[in-house]
Amino acid sequence: METEGASSVTVRKNTQTPKAMIHQKFGANACYTHEEVHESADNGCPGLAIEQKGPCLYRCTLQLPEITVVSGIFRKKKDAEQAAAQLALEELRINPVTKSSSLPETWDGLVSRVKYVFSEEFLSSLHPLSGHVRAAWQREGRLAGLIPACAIAVFDATLSNMCKSIDPKVESNPFLIISYVMRAAAELSGFIASSEGELWIRRQSPYPPEIIELSSIQHNPNNPEIIVSPSNQQSASPELLMVEAIIIPCSLEKNIERVILNLTSSGYYLDVIAKQLGLLEAADLMISRPIGKASSETRLHSAAPKQYLLDISSDLHAKEVRRFEGSLNARASYLSGQDIFGDAILATIGYTWRSKDLFYEDASVKSYYRMLIGKTPSGLYKLSRGAILAAELPLAFTTNAKWKGSLPREMLCTFCRQHQLSQPIFSTLSSLEESTDSSQSQKKLRVTDLAAKGTQHANGCVVATGAKETVESGGRYRCELKVYTKFQDLILECSPEDSFKKQSDSVQNASLKVLLWLDIYFRDPNVPLERLKAYADGLDLRFEPKFFVEAFMLCQSLHNVCYNEIEEGKLVYPYSMNVPNGLAGHGFRSLNIEGCDSGISPSNGSLSCVSYSASLVTEVHIKEQLESIDDFEFEIASGAVNQHLESVLIQMSVGQTACFIMDLPPRELIFAAADDSARMISLLSSETCWLEYTIRLLRVTEPLEDRMEQALFSPPLSKQRVEYAVQSIRESCAATLVDFGCGSGSLLDSLLNYSTSLEKIAGVDLSQKSLTRAAKILNSKLNSTSDVDISSTPLKSAILYDGSVTDSDSRLCGFDIGTCLEVIEHMEEDQAYLFGNVALSYFRPKILIVSTPNYEYNVILQKSTLSTPEDDLDERSESQSCKFRNHDHKFEWTRAQFNCWATELATRHNYSVEFSGVGGSGDEPGFASQIAVFRRKTLQEDYPEELSDSEHRYYQVIWEWTGNNRSISAL
Ligand code: SAH
Ligand code: MG
Repeated sequence: METEGASSVTVRKNTQTPKAMIHQKFGANACYTHEEVHESADNGCPGLAIEQKGPCLYRCTLQLPEITVVSGIFRKKKDAEQAAAQLALEELRINPVTKSSSLPETWDGLVSRVKYVFSEEFLSSLHPLSGHVRAAWQREGRLAGLIPACAIAVFDATLSNMCKSIDPKVESNPFLIISYVMRAAAELSGFIASSEGELWIRRQSPYPPEIIELSSIQHNPNNPEIIVSPSNQQSASPELLMVEAIIIPCSLEKNIERVILNLTSSGYYLDVIAKQLGLLEAADLMISRPIGKASSETRLHSAAPKQYLLDISSDLHAKEVRRFEGSLNARASYLSGQDIFGDAILATIGYTWRSKDLFYEDASVKSYYRMLIGKTPSGLYKLSRGAILAAELPLAFTTNAKWKGSLPREMLCTFCRQHQLSQPIFSTLSSLEESTDSSQSQKKLRVTDLAAKGTQHANGCVVATGAKETVESGGRYRCELKVYTKFQDLILECSPEDSFKKQSDSVQNASLKVLLWLDIYFRDPNVPLERLKAYADGLDLRFEPKFFVEAFMLCQSLHNVCYNEIEEGKLVYPYSMNVPNGLAGHGFRSLNIEGCDSGISPSNGSLSCVSYSASLVTEVHIKEQLESIDDFEFEIASGAVNQHLESVLIQMSVGQTACFIMDLPPRELIFAAADDSARMISLLSSETCWLEYTIRLLRVTEPLEDRMEQALFSPPLSKQRVEYAVQSIRESCAATLVDFGCGSGSLLDSLLNYSTSLEKIAGVDLSQKSLTRAAKILNSKLNSTSDVDISSTPLKSAILYDGSVTDSDSRLCGFDIGTCLEVIEHMEEDQAYLFGNVALSYFRPKILIVSTPNYEYNVILQKSTLSTPEDDLDERSESQSCKFRNHDHKFEWTRAQFNCWATELATRHNYSVEFSGVGGSGDEPGFASQIAVFRRKTLQEDYPEELSDSEHRYYQVIWEWTGNNRSISAL
């Protein structure tokens, strides 16, 4: 189909090029990037002038959902691409021959393939199936040379592909391959033998003994191509290998348990597995496709539905597999995506395509549960972060630098593969910015739901140049994403409105939305359809209930088993949509924070790094550690960890350690974390258990604004603002001060370090979290005897209110001075106007100081290198070239805009206004933080009577201190 990339050197006509094959398999999920490699001219290209650098050569990197490969160096881009595609095909073990037309995909072809499998040539090859042939011939007695049909069906990809092209039904019913193999064998009588009622095939004449022996010679252990378990290497004489595997009983009542398989280096491992399952020999087995990672050798082994198989081999078009009288093993079937009957053994043993040696690894109960949670979106994320009990799928895709763990697109591709769906189809739409008015486009693109918050930086790419604003005319990308079943029925589609500067960001964003929605289902597969629909709407997603339910049929019986243990009503949805407030407090107690308060605490958007351990604890104080991580970093307020952890963390400061108890998470998570699952099972069944967390806050990386304010200004910009305010307060000889939007009290706190004429200070904010912190700090400072000598100041009272500065509470009227530092940009623009009006018409302080970022200064900030060593510079300049300084900012004004706001207010309410600022020299493009100082023109009280008389108490007192009796009323 694709001819453009055909490289004449490596690919013959009529054959698909590697790139075409990759395209067929991965579509838009295959991402090629080129790198120019300059070689000096004397390096092989004598024809070129010496003074020039060598010819431009290319190296190509091909990224696929599962792997990334890098080509060698080529003169043509397209050759590098083909080479990379070829490497990927090899890595993924996709055999180019099977898809090409060089082999007839017919019955005769199949028969000759089976014949080839029993040839001497095949036995000496490195084909994984040759290991089986050899092992089977090394058996003694009756079983010598009997090759299980299932091994041929499963381990020869060429053969199974041929079956698929002969009969497309094979795709959905792998049992059919076995039948085809048996039928082909029947046509080869004379050369190979089979037996009525049995599922094995044997070569009539034994192989010459030299070939068997030759091929079992140990090869060079130094050859890096060969994958052998370390303990496996020195096997000279037959040696006993004890391999751990697990049994998945058919009955859901029985636990998953560990079994030890006693293999010998010379025996046939499938016989041992068969025996463990109560079967006679390997030919009675059925082997599943590999489970887990793409390159995995982990498979499920179970009883072959013999009766059924022999039935269909006599009449290939009859009956359905589910009619087999055995019982379906739900857990095993769910794990493999194939029908599996009876008890099953999960083991990682086999011959690999690169080695004749038996490869094995232990498979533990833990690995089973990891595979199980790895089939859920948040499980995939937890595994990729290696923090099963802590990490949750973040609610927002922010930047690559802040995203920890596998990226959403990767996870979605893995998810689809694991559930035997087609690979998701991404289509990105590029569009030019529709509006040329920046403030309008900012408004239009403004997103308010939490899930989209992290994308704000990418919306409305406005670039300031001097005092003028221009809208960058580059294209923006939106992504549409579709997920189909393997039969190409559409399951769901997602087309978010959000647009991005980078194409890949739009893909990641859409992928995350799909993952978040799927995760709601996996947390509770019984969630009613209407509920799912409502969540889908919130995520710009549409789904086809019929195909969706079909695709995830078995999830209900399995994930439910684990989740229904959460008591009714306690199920915590991690998503903001429709979640009742306060739910986060459930099932969590005895918090104890130790260590002194360093004052460095995480805030929204900052990165926190913690070490933690989570243990199972019982009433009688048995403690078993489940998980322990030394260095775990995540973004605050992006829903990136379990809610309890985050709610604890925001109360801590760097250096402190917290300990708390939580209700148990679902058992599948416990078993996925625990090394000794048998012990866990016995503890869980005999005692009441909880989860105990010990967590230490190691460091906090501030959001960009704070980092920038500290890195680029000395003293830090925040400090300069506070100093500016303190200076004005001292000059004004004010006796009363109100700090509008006081936050954690940085200004009020600093004021206490200076001697001022203030008698009364007040702060108001609507963040309880910040107010609590402010109260703590002020309280300890005002009540300590050593810190500051309060008695030498006139200060008599301090008070903190919880409320909005746009509400007119009469207790804040008539203060001498009001401050409002870096607050208005956190409100919608209309609210900022409202605040201005309320402040100057109702509160009417003699002086009002308002500061806000100067948007024009951002050019300078963004040019400066702000990267910390772990940040990727390219990523930062492209995707994190944040429009605003802080993701919570609703706007940032130019000097002209701020001027306009302030002048209009001043005129209307009879104030004068002066402009100034901090940070930078004040020359073009102005100060980093711009400041307006309003002064009331009539200093005599000029309140409208009706306002000052009536009492309006909208605010709630959060904390209060009065110098005389030092009474405290805490929250
Ligand atoms: N003035 C502080 C905090 C600035 S951060 C300082 O300079 O350190 C902005 C603060 O404004 C946040 O604490 C936020 O909770 C608060 N805020 C935003 N809108 C508000 C409103 N309508 N009423 C009161 N506080 C508000
Ligand atoms: Mg701000």
